[in-house]
Amino acid sequence: MAGTALPGRLKERLAWRVARLVAVRDETSTARTLVLEVPGWPGHLAGQRVDLRLTAADGYSTRRSYSLAAPADGDRLELTVQKVPGGEVSPYLTEVFSVGDPLELRGPVGGWFVWRPADTAPVLLVAGGSGLVPLMAMVRARRAAGSRVPFRLICSVRAPDDLYYAAELRDAAGRDPGLDVTRFYTRAVPDHWTSPPRRLRAEDLAAAGWPPDFGPTCYVCGPTGFVEEVAGALVEIGHDPARIRTERFGPSGSSARG
Ligand SMILES: Cc1cc2nc3c(=O)[nH]c(=O)nc-3n(C[C@H](O)[C@H](O)[C@H](O)COP(=O)(O)OP(=O)(O)OC[C@H]3O[C@@H](n4cnc5c(N)ncnc54)[C@H](O)[C@@H]3O)c2cc1C
Repeated sequence: MAGTALPGRLKERLAWRVARLVAVRDETSTARTLVLEVPGWPGHLAGQRVDLRLTAADGYSTRRSYSLAAPADGDRLELTVQKVPGGEVSPYLTEVFSVGDPLELRGPVGGWFVWRPADTAPVLLVAGGSGLVPLMAMVRARRAAGSRVPFRLICSVRAPDDLYYAAELRDAAGRDPGLDVTRFYTRAVPDHWTSPPRRLRAEDLAAAGWPPDFGPTCYVCGPTGFVEEVAGALVEIGHDPARIRTERFGPSGSSARG
Protein backbone atom coordinates (compact mmCIF):
# COMPACT_ATOMS: atom_id res chain seq x y z
CA MET A 1 0.00 0.00 0.00
CA ALA A 2 3.09 2.22 0.13
CA GLY A 3 2.51 5.47 -1.74
CA THR A 4 -1.26 4.89 -2.04
CA ALA A 5 -3.65 7.48 -0.61
CA LEU A 6 -5.45 5.84 2.32
CA PRO A 7 -9.13 6.59 2.90
CA GLY A 8 -9.52 9.19 5.69
CA ARG A 9 -11.10 6.84 8.24
CA LEU A 10 -8.45 4.15 7.78
CA LYS A 11 -5.73 6.76 8.05
CA GLU A 12 -7.30 7.94 11.31
CA ARG A 13 -7.34 4.38 12.68
CA LEU A 14 -3.72 3.71 11.74
CA ALA A 15 -2.48 6.94 13.30
CA TRP A 16 -0.74 6.58 16.66
CA ARG A 17 -2.29 8.80 19.34
CA VAL A 18 -0.92 9.67 22.75
CA ALA A 19 -3.11 8.27 25.52
CA ARG A 20 -2.72 9.09 29.21
CA LEU A 21 -3.67 6.88 32.13
CA VAL A 22 -6.30 8.64 34.25
CA ALA A 23 -7.50 5.87 36.61
CA VAL A 24 -7.00 2.20 37.45
CA ARG A 25 -9.23 -0.48 39.00
CA ASP A 26 -7.95 -3.83 40.18
CA GLU A 27 -10.27 -6.56 38.88
CA THR A 28 -8.40 -9.50 40.47
CA SER A 29 -4.99 -9.90 42.11
CA THR A 30 -3.43 -10.18 38.63
CA ALA A 31 -5.67 -8.12 36.34
CA ARG A 32 -6.18 -4.39 36.20
CA THR A 33 -8.53 -2.09 34.31
CA LEU A 34 -6.79 0.93 32.82
CA VAL A 35 -8.86 4.03 32.11
CA LEU A 36 -7.14 6.01 29.36
CA GLU A 37 -7.84 9.46 28.02
CA VAL A 38 -7.25 9.74 24.28
CA PRO A 39 -7.90 13.23 22.89
CA GLY A 40 -9.91 13.09 19.64
CA TRP A 41 -10.89 9.40 20.04
CA PRO A 42 -13.30 8.64 17.13
CA GLY A 43 -15.46 6.15 19.09
CA HIS A 44 -15.65 2.36 18.74
CA LEU A 45 -17.94 -0.67 18.68
CA ALA A 46 -18.20 -3.29 21.41
CA GLY A 47 -15.76 -6.10 20.56
CA GLN A 48 -13.12 -3.94 18.90
CA ARG A 49 -9.56 -3.67 20.14
CA VAL A 50 -6.63 -1.25 20.13
CA ASP A 51 -2.91 -1.64 19.51
CA LEU A 52 -0.59 -0.20 22.16
CA ARG A 53 2.99 0.85 21.46
CA LEU A 54 5.52 1.29 24.24
CA THR A 55 8.90 2.87 23.46
CA ALA A 56 11.98 2.78 25.69
CA ALA A 57 14.49 5.63 25.99
CA ASP A 58 16.94 3.73 23.71
CA GLY A 59 14.37 3.60 20.88
CA TYR A 60 13.32 -0.04 21.39
CA SER A 61 9.57 -0.29 20.95
CA THR A 62 7.03 -3.06 21.26
CA ARG A 63 3.34 -3.44 20.43
CA ARG A 64 0.45 -5.47 21.84
CA SER A 65 -3.30 -5.73 21.15
CA TYR A 66 -5.90 -5.22 23.89
CA SER A 67 -9.68 -5.39 23.64
CA LEU A 68 -11.79 -2.43 24.63
CA ALA A 69 -13.68 -3.29 27.82
CA ALA A 70 -16.47 -0.72 27.64
CA PRO A 71 -18.21 1.64 25.24
CA ALA A 72 -16.33 4.92 24.74
CA ASP A 73 -17.10 7.66 27.23
CA GLY A 74 -16.11 10.72 25.22
CA ASP A 75 -12.32 10.57 25.02
CA ARG A 76 -12.06 7.85 27.70
CA LEU A 77 -11.38 4.18 27.00
CA GLU A 78 -11.12 1.17 29.28
CA LEU A 79 -8.86 -1.86 28.83
CA THR A 80 -8.44 -4.78 31.23
CA VAL A 81 -5.00 -6.35 31.23
CA GLN A 82 -4.16 -9.76 32.68
CA LYS A 83 -0.60 -10.08 33.94
CA VAL A 84 1.17 -12.87 32.03
CA PRO A 85 4.06 -14.08 34.24
CA GLY A 86 7.38 -13.36 32.53
CA GLY A 87 5.65 -11.23 29.89
CA GLU A 88 7.29 -8.13 28.50
CA VAL A 89 4.32 -5.74 28.47
CA SER A 90 1.49 -6.98 30.72
CA PRO A 91 3.50 -6.89 34.00
CA TYR A 92 4.46 -3.30 33.16
CA LEU A 93 0.85 -2.31 32.41
CA THR A 94 -0.55 -3.96 35.54
CA GLU A 95 2.20 -3.06 38.05
CA VAL A 96 4.28 -0.10 36.87
CA PHE A 97 2.23 2.06 34.49
CA SER A 98 0.83 4.85 36.71
CA VAL A 99 -1.81 7.55 36.58
CA GLY A 100 -0.49 10.43 34.47
CA ASP A 101 1.84 8.20 32.39
CA PRO A 102 1.51 8.30 28.57
CA LEU A 103 1.55 5.54 25.98
CA GLU A 104 0.82 5.36 22.26
CA LEU A 105 -2.34 3.73 21.00
CA ARG A 106 -4.10 3.26 17.68
CA GLY A 107 -7.48 1.98 16.61
CA PRO A 108 -10.21 1.01 16.89
CA VAL A 109 -9.36 -2.26 15.11
CA GLY A 110 -11.69 -5.06 13.96
CA GLY A 111 -15.07 -5.17 12.23
CA TRP A 112 -16.30 -8.78 12.55
CA PHE A 113 -16.08 -9.59 16.25
CA VAL A 114 -18.44 -6.73 17.13
CA TRP A 115 -21.95 -6.29 18.48
CA ARG A 116 -24.05 -3.31 17.43
CA PRO A 117 -27.09 -2.13 19.44
CA ALA A 118 -29.11 -2.32 16.19
CA ASP A 119 -28.51 -6.13 16.04
CA THR A 120 -31.70 -7.97 17.02
CA ALA A 121 -30.66 -11.66 17.17
CA PRO A 122 -30.29 -13.27 20.63
CA VAL A 123 -26.67 -13.32 21.73
CA LEU A 124 -24.58 -16.04 23.33
CA LEU A 125 -21.28 -14.90 24.82
CA VAL A 126 -18.74 -17.51 25.91
CA ALA A 127 -15.65 -16.25 27.75
CA GLY A 128 -12.53 -18.10 28.85
CA GLY A 129 -10.55 -16.11 31.46
CA SER A 130 -9.53 -12.68 30.13
CA GLY A 131 -11.63 -13.38 27.03
CA LEU A 132 -14.42 -11.80 29.05
CA VAL A 133 -13.06 -8.31 28.22
CA PRO A 134 -14.63 -7.68 24.78
CA LEU A 135 -17.77 -9.63 25.78
CA MET A 136 -18.21 -7.33 28.78
CA ALA A 137 -17.98 -4.41 26.36
CA MET A 138 -20.98 -5.96 24.56
CA VAL A 139 -22.91 -6.36 27.84
CA ARG A 140 -22.15 -2.75 28.74
CA ALA A 141 -23.01 -1.46 25.24
CA ARG A 142 -26.38 -3.28 25.48
CA ARG A 143 -27.05 -1.59 28.83
CA ALA A 144 -25.94 1.83 27.59
CA ALA A 145 -28.26 1.54 24.57
CA GLY A 146 -31.22 0.35 26.70
CA SER A 147 -31.39 -2.71 24.41
CA ARG A 148 -33.61 -5.64 25.40
CA VAL A 149 -31.96 -8.13 23.03
CA PRO A 150 -31.66 -11.33 25.11
CA PHE A 151 -28.06 -12.08 26.11
CA ARG A 152 -26.63 -15.18 27.73
CA LEU A 153 -23.11 -14.98 29.08
CA ILE A 154 -21.13 -18.09 30.00
CA CYS A 155 -17.87 -17.44 31.85
CA SER A 156 -15.24 -20.09 32.44
CA VAL A 157 -12.53 -19.15 34.95
CA ARG A 158 -10.02 -21.11 37.00
CA ALA A 159 -11.36 -20.06 40.41
CA PRO A 160 -13.99 -17.68 41.83
CA ASP A 161 -11.42 -14.92 42.52
CA ASP A 162 -10.36 -14.93 38.87
CA LEU A 163 -13.66 -13.58 37.55
CA TYR A 164 -13.35 -9.98 36.34
CA TYR A 165 -16.19 -7.49 36.93
CA ALA A 166 -17.61 -9.89 39.55
CA ALA A 167 -19.77 -7.36 41.40
CA GLU A 168 -21.17 -5.92 38.18
CA LEU A 169 -22.05 -9.41 36.92
CA ARG A 170 -23.59 -10.35 40.27
CA ASP A 171 -25.91 -7.36 39.94
CA ALA A 172 -26.81 -8.27 36.34
CA ALA A 173 -30.27 -9.56 37.31
CA GLY A 174 -31.21 -6.06 38.56
CA ARG A 175 -29.20 -3.89 36.17
CA ASP A 176 -29.51 -5.86 32.95
CA PRO A 177 -32.95 -7.42 32.48
CA GLY A 178 -32.65 -10.11 29.82
CA LEU A 179 -29.01 -10.96 30.60
CA ASP A 180 -28.34 -14.38 32.14
CA VAL A 181 -24.89 -15.14 33.51
CA THR A 182 -23.59 -18.68 34.14
CA ARG A 183 -20.20 -19.40 35.68
CA PHE A 184 -17.99 -22.45 35.35
CA TYR A 185 -14.78 -23.16 37.27
CA THR A 186 -11.91 -25.27 36.00
CA ARG A 187 -9.68 -25.52 39.12
CA ALA A 188 -11.51 -24.42 42.30
CA VAL A 189 -15.23 -23.90 42.97
CA PRO A 190 -17.02 -21.64 45.50
CA ASP A 191 -17.88 -23.23 48.88
CA HIS A 192 -21.57 -23.69 48.08
CA TRP A 193 -20.92 -25.26 44.63
CA THR A 194 -22.27 -28.77 44.21
CA SER A 195 -20.11 -29.96 41.28
CA PRO A 196 -16.32 -30.34 41.12
CA PRO A 197 -14.17 -28.02 38.98
CA ARG A 198 -14.07 -29.00 35.31
CA ARG A 199 -13.75 -27.70 31.78
CA LEU A 200 -16.75 -26.43 29.86
CA ARG A 201 -18.49 -29.18 27.85
CA ALA A 202 -20.91 -29.24 24.93
CA GLU A 203 -23.76 -30.16 27.29
CA ASP A 204 -23.03 -27.03 29.41
CA LEU A 205 -23.23 -24.86 26.30
CA ALA A 206 -26.52 -26.53 25.40
CA ALA A 207 -27.94 -26.02 28.91
CA ALA A 208 -26.74 -22.46 29.55
CA GLY A 209 -26.81 -21.15 25.97
CA TRP A 210 -29.61 -20.74 23.42
CA PRO A 211 -31.13 -23.54 21.36
CA PRO A 212 -29.65 -23.35 17.84
CA ASP A 213 -33.22 -22.89 16.46
CA PHE A 214 -33.32 -19.42 18.03
CA GLY A 215 -30.60 -18.36 15.59
CA PRO A 216 -28.34 -16.69 18.16
CA THR A 217 -25.14 -14.93 17.24
CA CYS A 218 -22.39 -16.61 19.27
CA TYR A 219 -19.25 -14.75 20.35
CA VAL A 220 -16.43 -16.84 21.81
CA CYS A 221 -13.27 -15.28 23.23
CA GLY A 222 -10.32 -16.55 25.26
CA PRO A 223 -7.06 -18.44 24.83
CA THR A 224 -6.72 -20.17 21.44
CA GLY A 225 -7.34 -23.71 22.76
CA PHE A 226 -10.46 -22.63 24.64
CA VAL A 227 -11.89 -20.83 21.60
CA GLU A 228 -11.30 -23.82 19.33
CA GLU A 229 -12.88 -26.26 21.78
CA VAL A 230 -15.94 -24.09 22.42
CA ALA A 231 -16.50 -23.21 18.76
CA GLY A 232 -16.27 -26.94 17.89
CA ALA A 233 -18.73 -27.83 20.66
CA LEU A 234 -21.20 -25.17 19.49
CA VAL A 235 -21.15 -26.66 15.99
CA GLU A 236 -21.50 -30.15 17.49
CA ILE A 237 -24.73 -29.15 19.30
CA GLY A 238 -26.17 -27.67 16.12
CA HIS A 239 -25.18 -24.00 15.90
CA ASP A 240 -24.65 -22.56 12.45
CA PRO A 241 -20.87 -22.03 11.97
CA ALA A 242 -21.66 -18.82 10.08
CA ARG A 243 -23.14 -17.38 13.29
CA ILE A 244 -20.13 -18.18 15.47
CA ARG A 245 -17.63 -15.33 15.82
CA THR A 246 -14.33 -15.94 17.57
CA GLU A 247 -11.47 -13.89 18.97
CA ARG A 248 -8.28 -15.60 20.10
CA PHE A 249 -6.14 -14.00 22.79
CA GLY A 250 -2.84 -15.49 21.72
CA PRO A 251 0.48 -13.69 21.89
CA SER A 252 0.12 -10.43 19.93
CA GLY A 253 3.59 -8.93 20.13
CA SER A 254 5.84 -7.27 17.62
CA SER A 255 8.96 -5.33 18.55
CA ALA A 256 11.42 -3.02 16.78
CA ARG A 257 14.50 -0.98 17.50
CA GLY A 258 14.76 2.42 15.91
C1 LIG B 1 -6.96 -9.59 19.48
C2 LIG B 1 -6.30 -9.69 20.84
C3 LIG B 1 -6.90 -9.05 21.92
C4 LIG B 1 -6.32 -9.17 23.18
N1 LIG B 1 -6.95 -8.57 24.25
C5 LIG B 1 -6.44 -8.73 25.48
C6 LIG B 1 -7.12 -8.17 26.62
O1 LIG B 1 -8.18 -7.53 26.51
N2 LIG B 1 -6.55 -8.35 27.84
C7 LIG B 1 -5.39 -9.06 28.00
O2 LIG B 1 -4.92 -9.18 29.15
N3 LIG B 1 -4.72 -9.60 26.94
C8 LIG B 1 -5.22 -9.43 25.70
N4 LIG B 1 -4.54 -9.95 24.62
C9 LIG B 1 -3.19 -10.55 24.84
C10 LIG B 1 -2.15 -9.42 24.79
O3 LIG B 1 -2.10 -8.86 23.49
C11 LIG B 1 -0.72 -9.89 25.12
O4 LIG B 1 -0.39 -10.98 24.27
C12 LIG B 1 -0.57 -10.29 26.57
O5 LIG B 1 -0.83 -9.16 27.41
C13 LIG B 1 0.86 -10.80 26.87
O6 LIG B 1 1.78 -9.81 26.54
P1 LIG B 1 3.20 -9.77 27.28
O7 LIG B 1 4.04 -8.78 26.57
O8 LIG B 1 3.01 -9.59 28.76
O9 LIG B 1 3.76 -11.23 27.08
P2 LIG B 1 4.88 -11.66 25.97
O10 LIG B 1 6.20 -11.10 26.38
O11 LIG B 1 4.36 -11.32 24.62
O12 LIG B 1 4.84 -13.22 26.14
C14 LIG B 1 5.42 -13.87 27.29
C15 LIG B 1 5.08 -15.34 27.28
O13 LIG B 1 3.67 -15.52 27.51
C16 LIG B 1 3.05 -16.15 26.37
N5 LIG B 1 1.81 -15.40 26.14
C17 LIG B 1 1.67 -14.24 25.48
N6 LIG B 1 0.41 -13.82 25.47
C18 LIG B 1 -0.28 -14.75 26.17
C19 LIG B 1 -1.64 -14.88 26.51
N7 LIG B 1 -2.58 -13.99 26.12
N8 LIG B 1 -2.00 -15.97 27.25
C20 LIG B 1 -1.08 -16.87 27.64
N9 LIG B 1 0.23 -16.80 27.33
C21 LIG B 1 0.63 -15.76 26.61
C22 LIG B 1 4.03 -16.00 25.21
O14 LIG B 1 3.90 -17.05 24.28
C23 LIG B 1 5.37 -16.01 25.93
O15 LIG B 1 5.75 -17.33 26.20
C24 LIG B 1 -5.11 -9.88 23.36
C25 LIG B 1 -4.50 -10.51 22.25
C26 LIG B 1 -5.09 -10.42 21.01
C27 LIG B 1 -4.43 -11.11 19.84
